[in-house]
Amino acid sequence: MTNTAYSRIARRLDAVRPSPTLAITARAAELKAAGIDVLSFSAGEPDFPTPEHICAAARRAIDEGFTKYTAVGGIPELRKAIATNIETRFGVRYGPAEIAVTVGAKHALFNVAYALYEPGDEIVIPAPYWVTYPEHARLAGADPVVVPTAAENRFKMRPADLERALGPRTRAVILSTPSNPTGAAYDERELAALAEVLAPTSALVVTDEIYASLTYGGFRHRSFVSVAPQMKDRVLLVDGVSKSYAMTGWRIGWVAGPRHFIEAILTVQSQATSNPTSIAQRAALEALVAPQDCVEEMRRRFEVRRDLMLEGLLAIPGVRCLAPDGAFYVFPDFSEVIAKLDPAARIGNDTELAAYFLEEARVAVVPGEAFGAPGHLRLSYATGEATIREGLDRMRKSLQKIHPAG
Ligand code: PMP
Ligand code: GLU
Repeated sequence: MTNTAYSRIARRLDAVRPSPTLAITARAAELKAAGIDVLSFSAGEPDFPTPEHICAAARRAIDEGFTKYTAVGGIPELRKAIATNIETRFGVRYGPAEIAVTVGAKHALFNVAYALYEPGDEIVIPAPYWVTYPEHARLAGADPVVVPTAAENRFKMRPADLERALGPRTRAVILSTPSNPTGAAYDERELAALAEVLAPTSALVVTDEIYASLTYGGFRHRSFVSVAPQMKDRVLLVDGVSKSYAMTGWRIGWVAGPRHFIEAILTVQSQATSNPTSIAQRAALEALVAPQDCVEEMRRRFEVRRDLMLEGLLAIPGVRCLAPDGAFYVFPDFSEVIAKLDPAARIGNDTELAAYFLEEARVAVVPGEAFGAPGHLRLSYATGEATIREGLDRMRKSLQKIHPAG
């Protein structure tokens, strides 16, 4: 690195790291491009193509010349469709002025952080957490307060855990259900219990609904705001089309919340990205207003894969893993496996084990450390059934090579 006066990077980035999930996914893609047969369980995105009717709407937008700036917070038709979508799914009504369309749900969360968090604020984040939440807090100068959860509690924060984490500096609590990376989801009773703890405080509640459509085994998703509508004036509900409609590359998300917060968020957005891509907005509009069969079809396929993935993982001696209620990740505990490996293999933690799987088995997984849960690995099952079978087989065989018992 050069050390000249002009080579400095802003200090606010000192404590911020790039997305490890995106980095590992990119590394797997690089290896594949180099002709190496890598199977990837790292990507947090559906392998399905974006449904054709959605792509057709985007083509129409281009043909009609819908290629110019739009309103910063999104076209009115899309905001209206989002309001209807929220009302239908969560039973809570938002007006178009209470909704901002953003460049993906990650951008919505970033805007929330940038517009509403200040240095000295504490942001409560249950662990295992999605990698981006603490980094957004830090980018805004706020301090993440990580709340560990236990596998015995299905990786869910209990009311007492939340209570302990709250303090005079708490600005917001982030709730991600179903969760990335564990797939755990809070039921109505659990959300109501958290709402009871939060009611006497002045904490905002940021709810990430990006996996809300993807639940399994009959689990019924509930949004925090549906369970505690009396707290709507301090909820920021974040969602998007990336996961439910296989639209990760289109970059459309949104945030719904009180009007004055949305105005602040749009001030940030108007000086950063301006509007989200006009063409992608039309595609997202089609996704929301067209029949929803494609969502259910993909959900069903994910459920089959979830079962396959679980079965294969549990067949590896020493692995413990909860059956996820939703999203498309499993989060197995490999700590017992790691403890029993041949010391000569020099694998002492999840990061080294993930590196070994990539080198030796040509399988990409994300180390649990990235999500604040060492000893675990995250595997995405948003990939074909043959890949799941073959990948798990490779992992199992590669472990046999470094297991003292053979
Ligand atoms: N929240 C969670 C929990 C996620 O896993 C993702 C996926 N990257 C996002 C938000 C952001 O999704 P996007 O920006 O693609 O809409
Ligand atoms: N949410 C996805 C994941 O966790 C996408 C990667 C990212 O945005 O960091 O893998």
